[in-house]
Amino acid sequence: AISIVSLEKSFSNEQVLKGVDFSIEPSELCVIVGPSGSGKSTLLKCIAGLVSFDRGEVLIDGASVGSIPVEKRDLGYVFQDFEERLFPHMTVGENVAFGLRQSEENFSDDAIQQKIDESLELLAITETKDTLPSELSGGQQQRVELARNLVRGCDIMLLDDPLADLDYKLQKRMELEIRRIHETLGSTFVYVTHNQDQALKLADKLVVINQGMIEQIGTPDEVYQNPATAFVGRFIGDSD
Ligand code: ATP
Repeated sequence: AISIVSLEKSFSNEQVLKGVDFSIEPSELCVIVGPSGSGKSTLLKCIAGLVSFDRGEVLIDGASVGSIPVEKRDLGYVFQDFEERLFPHMTVGENVAFGLRQSEENFSDDAIQQKIDESLELLAITETKDTLPSELSGGQQQRVELARNLVRGCDIMLLDDPLADLDYKLQKRMELEIRRIHETLGSTFVYVTHNQDQALKLADKLVVINQGMIEQIGTPDEVYQNPATAFVGRFIGDSD
């Protein structure tokens, strides 16, 4: 489980996280939703142990994230800006294979090829296998990054608006895929988005954040039917 306890984070004189508390159960698909600038990406990076915070704790199975050596953190992440970029000199297939070779299991070459094919198919980018990242659209690159991380089967997947660059139809299709992938992997997903529809559709647990504070935590139904604050009503519900 992941526990976030009284987390506070400032950049220069702006407090971006103002005491955030919640926990995420194993195998849960937890969606953090909020408007642009509400602190979602910063929160996700704190969970990943990629940015330091001023106060509070992030515990992964009871251990402070900072105390877990980076190579022992069983985390995969796809970030908007922070991302490990794709290796430009490797084809898409080789990039995905790199993800697999980083995992602790030793896969045979055949198994690696099969997993590459499966993951590219899952993300509808089979035809890109032998091309270089520079030849792909932004949305395709994003999906390759997703494939490279998902294929490793990490315990925890941190996803920062991974469908944001896709066109509407592909977004809808990938939403279904994300749920399917989540069920297949059985990993914990922490999924950040500013898209309310996507959040309601994907989440087991929804965390609504605004201006660095949590407004409400609940199932999509609970949050939609019973918004806890006026903000949630406006942001998630129909009331305007
Ligand atoms: P979006 O949906 O637009 O990605 P967000 O909810 O993910 O927004 P964050 O990216 O966490 O929000 O940013 C929250 C605030 O923190 C913003 O005001 C942003 O300018 C500021 N911020 C984020 N990263 C940094 C940084 N490295 N240095 C200074 N300020 C930062």
